[in-house]
Amino acid sequence: MVVDKTYPFNRIIIAIDGYSSCGKSTTARQVAAALNYSYIDTGAMYRAVTLYLLQNRIELNDTAAMQNALHAIRIEFNFNPISRCNETYLNGLNVEREIRTQYVANSVSEVSAIPEVRRAMVAQQQLMGHKRGVVMDGRDIGTHVFPKAELKIFMSADPLIRAQRRQLELREKGECVELSEIVENIKKRDHNDTTRTESPLRRADDAQLLDTSFMAIHEQVAWVVEQAKIAMMKLTHTTSMA
Ligand code: C5P
Repeated sequence: MVVDKTYPFNRIIIAIDGYSSCGKSTTARQVAAALNYSYIDTGAMYRAVTLYLLQNRIELNDTAAMQNALHAIRIEFNFNPISRCNETYLNGLNVEREIRTQYVANSVSEVSAIPEVRRAMVAQQQLMGHKRGVVMDGRDIGTHVFPKAELKIFMSADPLIRAQRRQLELREKGECVELSEIVENIKKRDHNDTTRTESPLRRADDAQLLDTSFMAIHEQVAWVVEQAKIAMMKLTHTTSMA
């Protein structure tokens, strides 16, 4: 991994990992905005790969087709000034809406368990973060993508609360899904993410735990920003002592 030393020395890497629908992305996006850092949603990258494979009817066990697909996939994030969010582009097309559907959610954990897919995504993520000053959220950021990140947060919340939040999110986008279906999907994704062989979801030894079951987003953001300031101060201190 290349770390570009020409960038300000106290800019840190913030790794936010955890279960799905804990508010990771919303928190990470707002923390990045508060610190004027860039934000990378790595889940969106796995979702975009999944969408491509579904659209092109590629069998997950067809290694040659998978390799070709990974070469053909180009993922970018572009800022939308109206939503004030980074949106996901797959080969030049905005797929932000499609990648958040239940259709994609149903297959994403299976796709993200494929070693070739992970290798390709991790390489891109390390490149995206090499300038530092980044908030990256996902499942393996603190354990695998940036194991030396200065701040690692592991987010968790009660599964039923997570399912209710997800249902609301889908409803706001016009998609009505039964709560029981969402609970099943969340449980299945948790199981797949924590038991897969390649970079399973786990809390890094030095990650701080944040249970968001009874927290509002602004409280989560304030807490992470506070931890980030402490981590920046520690880094400044360590660098000035060196
Ligand atoms: O974060 P989000 O729920 O959008 O992620 C979708 C899926 O992508 C996760 O359930 C997980 O299977 C996969 N993922 C992953 N590693 C990451 C980010 C997401 O395996 N770093």
